Amino acid sequence: MVLDSFRLDGRVALVTGGSRGIGRAFATALAQAGADVALLGRTSPAETVARIEALGRRAYVVPADLDKAGPDEIAGSVESVVAGLGRLDILVNNAGIIRRAAAVTHSPQDWDAVLRVDLDAVFHLCQAAGRVMLGQGHGKIVNVASMLSYQGGIQVPSYTAAKHAVVGLTRALANEWAGGGVNVNAIAPGYIATDNTAPLRADPDRERAIRERIPAGRWGRPEDLAGAVVFLASDAARYVHGTVLPVDGGWLAR
Ligand code: NAP
Repeated sequence: MVLDSFRLDGRVALVTGGSRGIGRAFATALAQAGADVALLGRTSPAETVARIEALGRRAYVVPADLDKAGPDEIAGSVESVVAGLGRLDILVNNAGIIRRAAAVTHSPQDWDAVLRVDLDAVFHLCQAAGRVMLGQGHGKIVNVASMLSYQGGIQVPSYTAAKHAVVGLTRALANEWAGGGVNVNAIAPGYIATDNTAPLRADPDRERAIRERIPAGRWGRPEDLAGAVVFLASDAARYVHGTVLPVDGGWLAR
């Protein structure tokens, strides 16, 4: 039955940046659908662990700072998930940072930090998980893109560059890995009320300008992304490869 194909019972998911915001909602949704969830991040995800365990699923914490971890440490983190939870079926590359500064004054430090966390780490995580998934002949990778995978944004050049690249990487990996049973796709959230967008929402003019441009008439909530991540992580998406699914209240349709 079609609804059964959305279930994730017995699967193991790895979510990066699950301590708060969208990552917490992703991890909770995957657990609600039946998956055990590993949480990779630099901060204790205690609240997210509590939510996963309250659903009767296993949670597994992998401490790692994606601003500092190189490919070897990241590969070790992925191996520790397989050792700790017994398998790896789903990777959600959610962790991300944003640095707001005009292009002419955007510091090399900000540029490098954003590219390291939002792009380099995404590739290294895909690579390490891809090896496991190709070896077993199945797997789902969901990368997190942005409206700034489509648009230029305002004074966030490093973030826009990284999020455009995430879409290119998603397509490149889908081309290589679809034949090996691994689905690589992305979700492009619209404007979601999290810490990432707190400065925008604290500026009454920006907040109103953004809200009034969203056809749905409100900012998104992390939970609005739950259905999309479960779909792309599930057998229901078995023939979906290299796509970017906007969940944006209609922002891109405007
Ligand atoms: P958020 O509330 O700021 O959460 C970011 C998450 O990433 C946190 O769990 C954070 O962990 C983790 N993270 C940051 N730097 C890290 C590092 N060096 N190593 C490991 N983990 C790190 O942001 P969010 O809005 O939920 O964003 C989640 C994803 O959605 C990001 O990729 C973001 O670009 C994307 N996105 C967000 C929006 C939006 O409107 N909010 C729109 C489009 C796309 P700590 O708790 O340790 O900092």
